[in-house]
Amino acid sequence: MKVLHAASECLGIAKTGGLADVVAALPAAQHAMGMDVRVCLPAYPGAREKLNDARTLCTITVRDTPFELIEGTLGADGLRIWLLDCPPLFDRPGDPYRTPEGYEHSDNHWRFGLFSEAVSLLALGAGDWQPDVLHLHDWQVGLAAAWTARAPQRPRIVFTIHNLAYQGVFGRDVFDALGLPGEWWQPQALEFYGRFAFMKGGLYFADAITTVSPNYAREIQTLEFGWGLDGVLRERASVLTGVLNGIDIDTWSPTRDPLIERNYNGATVSSAKPVNKHALQAELGLPQSDVPMVVFIGRLAAQKGADLILAARTGIDALDLQLVVLASGEHDLETALMQWAQEQPQRVSVTLRYDEALAHRITAAADLQLMPSRFEPCGLNQMYAQRYGTLPIARHTGGLADTIVDANEATLADGTASGVVFPEASADSLLLGLERGLELLSAPKRRLALRRAGMRRDFSWKASAERYATLYTKL
Ligand code: ADP
Repeated sequence: MKVLHAASECLGIAKTGGLADVVAALPAAQHAMGMDVRVCLPAYPGAREKLNDARTLCTITVRDTPFELIEGTLGADGLRIWLLDCPPLFDRPGDPYRTPEGYEHSDNHWRFGLFSEAVSLLALGAGDWQPDVLHLHDWQVGLAAAWTARAPQRPRIVFTIHNLAYQGVFGRDVFDALGLPGEWWQPQALEFYGRFAFMKGGLYFADAITTVSPNYAREIQTLEFGWGLDGVLRERASVLTGVLNGIDIDTWSPTRDPLIERNYNGATVSSAKPVNKHALQAELGLPQSDVPMVVFIGRLAAQKGADLILAARTGIDALDLQLVVLASGEHDLETALMQWAQEQPQRVSVTLRYDEALAHRITAAADLQLMPSRFEPCGLNQMYAQRYGTLPIARHTGGLADTIVDANEATLADGTASGVVFPEASADSLLLGLERGLELLSAPKRRLALRRAGMRRDFSWKASAERYATLYTKL
């Protein structure tokens, strides 16, 4: 089985969110299963240097714009990467989508539109290698599905929705500039309420659509979570499935994690957690104590519900705990969180940056991890948390509902309870969930049982990779 993945992010090359983790881990798992896999990405600054044995294979031209195809491998396992190098489009500072100042690049439609067309040429064999399956991830490569589907001899196309909220919507001028065929300007193709969406390329033209959890696959067919695309998704429900993301269990392993103070397993978690907690408290300038440590790690965007934590502040202030936040994003939220930390330096620590290593130390130190998401396609943090014996306190939505076993009488009795799932995206609901979590922690035997239940769970990529393999074979 030959598989070409294409996306705008891949851990090790460029990352802004969970997409990057998946685009690194799934192909790696498939590579380990013996599939012939390549991952195609834009050649962002420094990307070529991150590869081993990088060499140029050929040049392909799209709308008079040349892309150099660079092949190399990433990491110890030798995952094969294809970079499409086009300096005018991709050799610029910032992240894959934004300037260093945080503004979207004004030509993202052009950057990812041309990239998508180039990917479709690779899918049809322009790199002297023709895949059986073209696996596309999110809106940036949605048009690659549409372009590829036109060819008579073509690979099967899988399109994965990592987050339906980002759809790549642009106007008619962009449609024309990209030279998209006129027949695609209709609701049964790319048109989207008088504009058009890159994402619809994937939704309409792929042979199979997947998303990153079974619950999210159901939710996106509803008005509330469909962002205007629920109708399309209901229409295509017969080819839409949810495949839960896995996590990288080598990078995120409390027994071997080199980034944390004290490694541990289910047998040693009770003694090791406090050691990690005290080390983190020292690092962050919090008093070294054994009060419950409640943490939040994530993007400060409406999706993640950090504003709900702020809205619950009065209630949280009345509880005996320390709050640790590692996050970045919307300016107002950053300011409000920082102000909280400045007012209560003995209880609240806020770090406003992206820091993977600190995320490991926080997860190892924490007792409870808040995820009050308004929607959450899959979510990774709740899986990392459980693996590190930290109880997630999460809203019942998307993949959070699929991956956390809410503690109730039955699940506590049968030993499967691994966290708290609260129903509403509201400050009150969050606060009740948090109080429930603190109460669960208060009895040492129960606390240990909950931690161990989370640590026992298998969130590895193996099961997910096998489900994708089954889907490919079916196609
Ligand atoms: P999303 O992709 O929607 O942002 P996910 O939970 O799927 O959410 O993945 C986010 C990833 O980014 C997780 O690995 C999370 O730990 C990490 N992350 C988010 N913000 C930060 C931060 N400020 N520092 C370190 N890691 C972060």
